[in-house]
Amino acid sequence: MAAERAYLDYNASAPLLDKAKAAMLAVLESPGNASSVHGEGRAKRAVIDRARNHVAQLCNASPDNVVFTSGATEAASTLLTPEYRMGRGSLVIGHLYVLASDHPCLLGGGHFAADQITQLPVDVDGLINVEALKTELGRRSKDDGQAIVACHFANNESGVIQPVADISAVVKDAGGLLVVDAVQAAGRLEIDIEALGADFLILSSHKIGGPQGAGAIVSATDLLMPAPLVTGGGQEKGHRAGTENVAAIAGFGEAAVIAGERLGGIEAVRNLRDRFEAALRAHIADVIIVADEAPRLANTSLFIIPGLKTETAQIAFDLAGIALSAGSACSSGKVGDSHVLAAMGLGSHGSALRLSIGAETGEKELVMFQKAVQGIAERRAEKGKAA
Ligand code: PLP
Repeated sequence: MAAERAYLDYNASAPLLDKAKAAMLAVLESPGNASSVHGEGRAKRAVIDRARNHVAQLCNASPDNVVFTSGATEAASTLLTPEYRMGRGSLVIGHLYVLASDHPCLLGGGHFAADQITQLPVDVDGLINVEALKTELGRRSKDDGQAIVACHFANNESGVIQPVADISAVVKDAGGLLVVDAVQAAGRLEIDIEALGADFLILSSHKIGGPQGAGAIVSATDLLMPAPLVTGGGQEKGHRAGTENVAAIAGFGEAAVIAGERLGGIEAVRNLRDRFEAALRAHIADVIIVADEAPRLANTSLFIIPGLKTETAQIAFDLAGIALSAGSACSSGKVGDSHVLAAMGLGSHGSALRLSIGAETGEKELVMFQKAVQGIAERRAEKGKAA
C-alpha cells in the first residue's frame, strides 16, 4: 500500500471524529446499564438522552421521536413493514413504493411480500418523476390499504438529491406515509422533518463521523410507529428492545452536533469537489460525470472512464494511495453492476467510480488524485496506441 493515503470514500464511511471517539471512550471507561436505577445506570441514561437531543436537533425533530438502532439498515428494516400501530390500534399498510435507485436496504422491501412492492423509475439524472408517482398512487382504491413510499433524500452513489417536499405533497394527498432515507444527506443538506413532510427519517452514525453500528429512526410523531423489529426488554419505549449500545450512541450524538455545524462549510466542500472533477476533465476528455447537471450533494462525484474496467481503475487508484469506491461495491468487496446506473439508463457502463469527500479533505488529497488521474490517462493513451 502507498505510504501516503488519500481517503476519498466518505459516503462508504466517514472518518471517526475526535469528539465522537472521546465521548465513546468516556462511556467505555465506566460500568452501568442505562436501565439500572443506580447512579451508574442513570449516568448511562443521561448519555443516551444527550445524544437523543443532538440527533433530534439535526432533524428539527422532538427528542421523544428518536429511536436508536444498530444502523440505517435496521431502521429501514423496522420501518418497511405492513404492520404499524396508531396509538393503541393497529394499522395495516397495503403497499410499498421504493425508487429503483434506492439503497438496497430500502430496495429489498423489508417485510413486504414481493407483490406488495413497486419500484418507481428514475430518469437519466436519477430523479423521480413526481407526476408518475401521483398517477401511480391515484390508481389505488381505498380497499387496497394505505401506501407507504420510501425514498432516499440523497443517493449514496451519484449524490443526486430527490425533491422530497414535492414527493411528500403527493404522498400526503393520497393519504400515504413517507419514509426518507436521509443517511447521505446528514451534514450535507439541511434536514427538517417538518419542512420535508416526512413521516420517518432514517439516519446512520458512521456516515457523519460517528462510529459504525449506530443509527436512528426519527419520526414526525410517536403516535404512529411500526411494529418493533426487535422485541424484549422494552428499551427505546418498546420500539427497539435490547441493551443500548451507549458508547456508539454517545459517539453518534457528538457527530450529529458537528454535522449540523458543518453545513456552514458545505460550499467549500463543493468547490473542492469541483476541483477534483476539473482534474478528471483535464486529463480524460471523454470522462462522464454522472448527473452533473442534476441537483447533487456537494461532496460526491460519480464518474465513468469509458473503456476502462471499474475494477482496474479502482486498483490503479488504490496503488496510487487513493481510496475511492466503485459506486456499487458489494459486501464481498467485488465490483458488481450498479443498479443505480442501470436505473438511470446508464447500465451499459456496468459500474462507475465514486469519490466522496468531507471537511477533512484538502490540497494533499487533491494533488494525489491529480497525479493518479494523470497516470491512468497516460496508460490509457499508451494502450490506445498499441491497440
Ligand atoms: N442508506 C444509504 C443511502 C446508505 O448510503 C447506507 C450505507 O451505505 C445505508 C442506508 C445503510 O446504512 P448502515 O451502514 O448504517 O446500515
